[in-house]
Amino acid sequence: MGLSTAEARALLERYPDRPVVGAVGSHSALDIADGAVTEGLSTLVLAQAGRDATYAQYFRTLRGPDGERRRGCVDDVWTYGAFADLLRPAEQERLRSAGVLLVPNRAFSSYVPLDAIENEFRVPIVGSRRLLRIEERTERENYYTLLASAGIPTPRAVPGPDAIERLSIVKLPHATRRLERGFFTAASPAEYREKADRLVARGTIAPADLATARIEEYVLGPVFNFNFFFSPLVPRAEGLELLGVDERRESSLDGLVRLPAAQQLALAESDRIPDYTVVGHGSLTVRESVLEEVFRIGERFVDAARARSPPGILGPFCLQTCLDRDGRPTVFDVAARIGGGTNAHLGLGHPYAAALYRGPMSSGRRVAWEIRRALAEHRLAEIVT
Ligand code: AMP
Repeated sequence: MGLSTAEARALLERYPDRPVVGAVGSHSALDIADGAVTEGLSTLVLAQAGRDATYAQYFRTLRGPDGERRRGCVDDVWTYGAFADLLRPAEQERLRSAGVLLVPNRAFSSYVPLDAIENEFRVPIVGSRRLLRIEERTERENYYTLLASAGIPTPRAVPGPDAIERLSIVKLPHATRRLERGFFTAASPAEYREKADRLVARGTIAPADLATARIEEYVLGPVFNFNFFFSPLVPRAEGLELLGVDERRESSLDGLVRLPAAQQLALAESDRIPDYTVVGHGSLTVRESVLEEVFRIGERFVDAARARSPPGILGPFCLQTCLDRDGRPTVFDVAARIGGGTNAHLGLGHPYAAALYRGPMSSGRRVAWEIRRALAEHRLAEIVT
């Protein structure tokens, strides 16, 4: 049996009064650390040896003679040979003794096996431990089933390659870099076979993954990633906030679309099929008339997550959408934790969050604010699992 929410919450009984905000060092750790420090909390980044300079050197907290922070936001860095070393009982004890509240990001849920997070990791997680699994497309209960139960529009699923009738996207992991994408598009069964063969030959995808790939219709429209926050500490009607919107830069896709068609066609054959490796983020806003629907979708998602996987969403989550020509959002991916693009709002915050909080508010700061509020009201248990 996995670690129950009650067991995770009981771990807090032996926690110090001033916990430390921790995050695995990659993805959104800087946003989490910056936000925590802004709210007066201490921070710890759990980094992999050899991938720690960003945190241990460049964003490390430097203090003046009075002990005050003068620079940086990462107060402490612990390094590991591999992130899964966090599971060692002695490391877990060390985290608990330091009073670490772990803010889960995609680096945590990718590099530490989900089974172990659910069953063995006895450190309080700020957010919804069990919902991390819904991101895995091959799970029986995944974000598609959750979105369907919430009545939220998703791209139409295509049952198999032979059923491809219009532009579709085939979703499978990269053959070797398993955390990256091996996505490709096809508008017919013949194009599917031709591209699949080429990508297998190029080593981008593996035949075994094709068998379990998700195929869905391609939504023609720009991508908007909506970074929400849900607080269980306030009445339900006040719980949902839209903090900000980001978009991604994907390589090689974004490089290709910056070329005129003639130059695209002059590229080597192997460069003409884009990769979808996320390499950066930008900040966006949406047409105001679209916001109402965005909130409706966010509310439905919160309700469905709570019903299907109690206690549901606690804190940040991200709905990744394409907006069609009528401005209707279709959700093609979900993060039931802090999104990958919140560094676009790092430090400065985002216009929507600023409009709510009357000042700079990032996703990381909002998480820390929630922790501070929960501490002040002796309700920390309500935001961890
Ligand atoms: P994901 O790994 O789900 O975040 O998707 C990576 C990228 O694939 C997104 O940023 C979009 O550019 C694109 N994408 C995914 N699903 C769709 C879809 N159904 N229609 C159009 N583009 C999509």
